Amino acid sequence: APYQTVDLRDLLDSTLTMFRGKIPPGISVATDYDPGLGPVPAYAGELNQVWTNLIHNALDAMGDTGTLTLRTAREHETALVEIADTGPGVPEELRERIFEPFFTTKGVGRGTGLGLDISYRIVAGRHGGDLRVESVPGDTRFQVRLPLTERTA
Ligand code: ADP
Ligand code: MG
Repeated sequence: APYQTVDLRDLLDSTLTMFRGKIPPGISVATDYDPGLGPVPAYAGELNQVWTNLIHNALDAMGDTGTLTLRTAREHETALVEIADTGPGVPEELRERIFEPFFTTKGVGRGTGLGLDISYRIVAGRHGGDLRVESVPGDTRFQVRLPLTERTA
């Protein structure tokens, strides 16, 4: 897949489109895109995989009711993408372990525990960015930061 300049808004909207019909009626979806955020150098298909993983997790966490929020913002030389949910949150003692391969709290056959590991490798390894979580009950934010300047390596 090619490294290209992409509009994060378009990428996020196209991922959301794939979830159409799979989002329970009690879940509302909100978007808050920074109009000042220009194109970002990225592997578009791989980033779509990241949004898909994070949205899946947010929906799993919320169950039947809640709000899923997709947000972008420009922070100096970094683009921020935040995927937030109103679910119960990630307990403090699990906040590092959830990024390990095969770590899951979901039942057998319901979670592979690979989503966050793969997402971290795409964001950090492939893009030189960062993936972290901030979470309190009712407000969990998975934050992806991507450098706005092209990688030379
Ligand atoms: P899986 O979804 O297959 O369990 P992931 O790597 O995607 O694997 O996630 C690992 C674990 O992180 C989940 O099992 C869950 O305990 C926790 N987690 C991930 N996203 C959220 C979220 N939005 N809210 C609460 N817990 C989460
Ligand atoms: Mg997952």
